Amino acid sequence: MRALIFGLWALMASVLAASAQDLSAQDLSALARLDPARSAISQSGQGVQISLGLSQPVPWRVRLLDMPPRLVMDFREVDWSGINDLPQTAAAVKGLRAGVFRPGWSRLVLELAGPFLVSSAEMTTDDGRAAVTVQLTPATPEDFAQKAALPEPAGWAMPKPADVPKLQPQGTGPLVVVLDPGHGGIDPGAESAGQTEAKLMLTFARELEEALVRDGRFRVVLTREGDVFVPLETRTSLARGAGADVFLSLHADALAEGDAQGATVYTLSEDASDEASAALAERHDRDDLLAGVDLSDQDDVVAEVLMDMARTETQPRAERLAGAIVAAVKGAKIRMHRHPHQSGGFSVLKSPDIPSVLLEVGFLSSDRDFRRLADPDWRAKLAGALVQALGSWATEDAALRAAAAP
Ligand SMILES: [Zn+2]
Repeated sequence: MRALIFGLWALMASVLAASAQDLSAQDLSALARLDPARSAISQSGQGVQISLGLSQPVPWRVRLLDMPPRLVMDFREVDWSGINDLPQTAAAVKGLRAGVFRPGWSRLVLELAGPFLVSSAEMTTDDGRAAVTVQLTPATPEDFAQKAALPEPAGWAMPKPADVPKLQPQGTGPLVVVLDPGHGGIDPGAESAGQTEAKLMLTFARELEEALVRDGRFRVVLTREGDVFVPLETRTSLARGAGADVFLSLHADALAEGDAQGATVYTLSEDASDEASAALAERHDRDDLLAGVDLSDQDDVVAEVLMDMARTETQPRAERLAGAIVAAVKGAKIRMHRHPHQSGGFSVLKSPDIPSVLLEVGFLSSDRDFRRLADPDWRAKLAGALVQALGSWATEDAALRAAAAP
């Protein structure tokens, strides 16, 4: 039995960098599987013990993130099937999420009830299999904050919004439409009958892209092309990088609150139109946090200024777009929510200069909506209505802006 003992996450990251290269040279297709029978998250004194059985050793690392306190474990590369069967008895662990974070890397994120530090972290191997054990012990908020603030080693940080690649739109028309299929990768969104919101919305985004390009008046960019995780902030950066004239985020969330059924358009507001809308916006931010996005370097003062700009110039244009969508969707005899235009503090709608709306195509928590979403004919009808809505909005918007110009 060979024991690989690592002390601090920073040390592990450097070990990882070396071992990741070694491994990729050996076998790129290596994929470890989680063995739920050899895995558990349990209370251990005042702390938490995380034990993970893996079918083979892989390079890995742990790190801490703040706001909220989280433990992030990255592995190259683990199939997390069965993670939901893992015994989880630690009161200090409030939430858990696992999945693909970026190509070649799998992530496990634990949301912690308070400040903890990694007191030991090791991977042992035995007979070709591996066992990971991480011990967390309670810490002072100051000690925790210091560890959580350590910068990511080179190559690990999420791409900075300024660094996102320039996307090439499909189509030839004058209006650049950025379609944003919600969720993806480690964040599957809502789930129902083996379908995920992430996959359904990618399918619908591709269908809508095709309909828009066929129409001829639009060029179209998608914020993600596959089942990959894209942070909310990166989605708005991608839109800006693509020169978006308009941004349409596509979702099919599950909503226990209220009577959520039928397509619903959301625009940005600080005060949500109702509790259900507030919950929806909060959940999307939480999905980002649970995927391990570090928001600690975002500047609130800048955000305030941009919000003012958005309120006066861009927001009326987004409101008109929402109105055009409601009119076109109702005109196509597609059933909408009884309050079809709502609002909330959705992070993905916060581009100050791009009219942005979020469309809940339907709610996966509703059986009737789920059947509609699964029906290609229904989706084609909705796509047609959205093409019409974007076209009529663009015409009206151009006329209004021309009239307002000095
Ligand atoms: Zn969603």
